[in-house]
Amino acid sequence: MTGFIPYGRQEVTRADIAAVEAVLRSDFLTQGPAVPRFEVALAAACGAKHAVAANSATSALHLACLALGLGPGDALWTSPNSFVASANCGLYCGARVDFVDIDPRTYNMCPHALEAKLRAAKAPPKVVVPVHFAGQPCDMAAIGALAQQYGFRVLEDASHAVGARDAGAPVGACAHSDIAVFSFHPVKIVTTGEGGAALTRDDALAARMALLRSHGVTRDPGLMTHAPEGPWCYQQVALGFNHRMTDMQAALGASQLERLGVIMLRRRTIAARYDAALAGLPLATPWQRPGADSAWHLYVIRLDDTARRRAVLEGLRARDIGVNVHYIPIHTQPHYRAMGFAPGDFPAAEAYYAGAISLPMFPTLTDAQQARVIEAVREEAA
Ligand SMILES: *Cc1c(COP(=O)(O)O)cnc(C)c1O
Repeated sequence: MTGFIPYGRQEVTRADIAAVEAVLRSDFLTQGPAVPRFEVALAAACGAKHAVAANSATSALHLACLALGLGPGDALWTSPNSFVASANCGLYCGARVDFVDIDPRTYNMCPHALEAKLRAAKAPPKVVVPVHFAGQPCDMAAIGALAQQYGFRVLEDASHAVGARDAGAPVGACAHSDIAVFSFHPVKIVTTGEGGAALTRDDALAARMALLRSHGVTRDPGLMTHAPEGPWCYQQVALGFNHRMTDMQAALGASQLERLGVIMLRRRTIAARYDAALAGLPLATPWQRPGADSAWHLYVIRLDDTARRRAVLEGLRARDIGVNVHYIPIHTQPHYRAMGFAPGDFPAAEAYYAGAISLPMFPTLTDAQQARVIEAVREEAA
């Protein structure tokens, strides 16, 4: 078996194409019925009251931070082991960004490190953004309890975790948070091309995010601050953006969402096969917190040092296996170093990063392709 195997890949079915085609033949390409339909289906799938779709998870994180009132003078704390968007959303709002180091077993924000940082801080941050890395939910009960005690808001970056569950409850239900954000980028669990959504149980947060998604302009007389002049009237009542999702994207997302159960099963099967086949090699396979049911966006192995990581990664790439590294700690990025962060600030995230390799993980990875990946890892990492 030859040919390039990527680390992640979308699956687009005939039904998905038909759903998008139907929108293309309809009266609305955007601001039509497909977006609210997708939002209702997504909220139902996750046990949330509201879903607000956006043109990316980055946009949804931005809307969520604004709705939570984050602004200049405030602070946002997130995990250094994430994509830069988890932190950038704080900067967009003029807030200060800081990080909480990870649990070396789960690679997620460590609740004990969070508690220690809260105790040492003069004031709590306004918003904490736990990231469900690789699809494994963070310990949200612990983080939610700290939010109650210290008085901060919780925004889950659940970009990896559509379909994940914690103690039986779907991620997105926001049992211990204010808002949860999903990404529908093609490497994620379900895709809309570009796209994202913010889920919440809170009516006011949902309304605020929907308003800011579309310029801060409303046609709802109930939201207007001045008496409408007539039935043509719209009013801009806040400074919003164009963070809207199109109807083509929403139709693709709704069609993909129907397969969520099948997608979860396949990802779990692939993970279990890697677990079994790689046990006994001199590398670490992903540890799962009891009660956490990962969406398996990523399957990360860890070598014990950065030289071996480089050798194994380059060896696998030379065999046309598109392995990748998730993530370079955000605080070591040049943009964040310029703000005063430095290597050494978050040692658990840095130690994790030094050995990490993401193996191919996507539902259409065939058994034969996975066998080729396993054999290559056995040879390169032995
Ligand atoms: C992919 C990703 C994002 C950004 O998602 P987009 O939809 O591409 O904006 C944010 N956070 C995490 C953890 C991600 O993996």
